[in-house]
Order: sequence, then C-alpha cells, then structure tokens
Amino acid sequence: MSILAGKVAIVTGASSGIGEATARLFAREGAAVVVSARREPELDRLVHSIASQGGRAVAVAGDVRDEAVAERLVAVAVDRFGGLDIALNNAGSVGDNEPVTEIALDRWRATLEINLTGAFLGAKHQIPAMLDRGGGSLILTSSFVGHTIGMPGMGAYAAAKAGMIGLTRVIAAEFGARGVRCNALLPGGTDTPAGREFANTPEIIAFVEGMHALKRMAHPDEIARAALFLASDASSFVTGSAMPVDGGVSINKA
Ligand code: NAP
Repeated sequence: MSILAGKVAIVTGASSGIGEATARLFAREGAAVVVSARREPELDRLVHSIASQGGRAVAVAGDVRDEAVAERLVAVAVDRFGGLDIALNNAGSVGDNEPVTEIALDRWRATLEINLTGAFLGAKHQIPAMLDRGGGSLILTSSFVGHTIGMPGMGAYAAAKAGMIGLTRVIAAEFGARGVRCNALLPGGTDTPAGREFANTPEIIAFVEGMHALKRMAHPDEIARAALFLASDASSFVTGSAMPVDGGVSINKA
C-alpha cells in the first residue's frame, strides 16, 4: 500500500534538487502532485517523467514571491485533484556570499523574500484548503544554517531560514487543534545544483563534507525520504518541530 495514496501535495522548488526528488517520491507513494518553480521546461520534464511511471502531476510555473502564484497552486490542486493534504514549501536561494556589513538592502530583501516570504505566502493559501479537508501536513524547508551553525557570509539566508522555524511553530500552534501539522525540515549539505554552487572546488567540497559527522553530503533522495515521513501519517504526532536531517553537521566538532 502506497503511503500517500489518495493524497494531494504541492511541492515548490521542484525544478531541481531536493524539491524534484521529493515530488518524484511523493508521486511514487501515490500522491497527486502540483509542482512549481520558475523554470517551466524542467517542470514539464518532471511531470512527463512522473506520468510515464504511472504517477499524477501537474506543473504551475511561477515565482514564489508572487502571491498570485501561491493562490494558483492551491486552486490547481483543488480543481485538478480535489483538494490539498500536503505542501512542501521548499523553493529557496542562498543569495550572495558576503559579510553582514556588505549586504545591500535590496539583496537582503531578495533573499528573505524568496526563502521566508515565499514560505509564508505558500502557507497562507495552503492552510485554508487543508482545513477544508479536515487537516494536512505543511513542511517548510529550512536549513542547519542559521539554526545550529553560524556560517560566515550567509547572514540574510540564515535569518530567513531561522525565521521559517519561527513561522513553523506559530502555524503549528495556530492550526494544530484543527488537524494541520507544520514542521520545518533542516537538511545538511546536500548534493544539488545549489549545494554544488557553494561547494565548487575540491577544497570546499572536502571542507563541507568534513563538517558532517557522516563525512559526506546528502543525496537529495535522503532529504526526500525525511519529507515523506513528515508528509505522511507516520509522523501523525509530530508538529512544530525543527527536524535536522543533517548527517550530524549540527553536533559534529571534529
Ligand atoms: P536547488 O536544486 O537550487 O533548488 C532550488 C529550487 O528553488 C529550484 O527548483 C528553483 O527553481 C527554486 N527557486 C529558487 N528561487 C525561486 C523563486 N524566486 N521562485 C520560485 N522558485 C524558486 O537547491 P536545493 O539544494 O534543492 O534547495 C532546496 C531547498 O533546500 C532550499 O530552500 C534550500 O535553501 C534548502 N537547503 C539546501 C541545502 C543544500 O545543501 N543543498 C541545505 C539546507 C537547506 P527555479 O530556478 O526553476 O525557479
């Protein structure tokens, strides 16, 4: 029996990396999936690939900072698949690598808007649709950066990702009584286009791998499996958590 049979999910940031891996896994586990990001060709390829394996998916291209896109994602989930049970608000960007004293206000705002405001807009429109179904599971992709580690050069990203944990806890408290769970997922270093953009030399890759107790980065499928746990009834008593799936980067000292 597929774990997500009969469920409907939204996955943002689905054109690559963690979002793509999670959309594929949710679909394999029986969910109908609305996938979103800005790059339409990548989304179309993903939808076709899911369909070719017998899954159900539809693409909605758009920018996560646009409230109309957040509304459209929910409308498509309801119109095409009958409702909404699960949302992985995962679109994100590290932004420029620079010390806090060098961050221009527009770049600060851009990084907060993509990561934090994007997740807020998603949740704002997803929660009412989940309430209509009697509950659901919201997941916000945060990070170890800003929560357990202060990484030089990542001030705006860290603030946004830590802010997502605060938002997670408020949503969990506001809507828990009505069946909506909300959890933050905190990946460690993960081998995705974004991860490779940061870890772009053998020296930096070795440094990043060494930060983790497991001495390697994650494969996106390993993060997707944690998202599946949070999305499914296997985590029915888990809400308001900031769940590290980080290969021990947050506890490693050697
Ligand atoms: P990725 O492969 O670069 O994926 C990022 C996704 O976000 C892409 O699908 C991208 O799609 C989408 N996106 C970016 N800006 C967007 C915008 N303005 N509007 C709509 N979509 C946007 O990176 P990833 O590593 O899988 O990252 C996924 C999430 O995990 C992010 O929130 C990231 O911060 C978090 N994370 C990653 C790591 C890591 O080491 N990789 C560690 C901790 C947390 P388009 O470009 O097509 O719009």
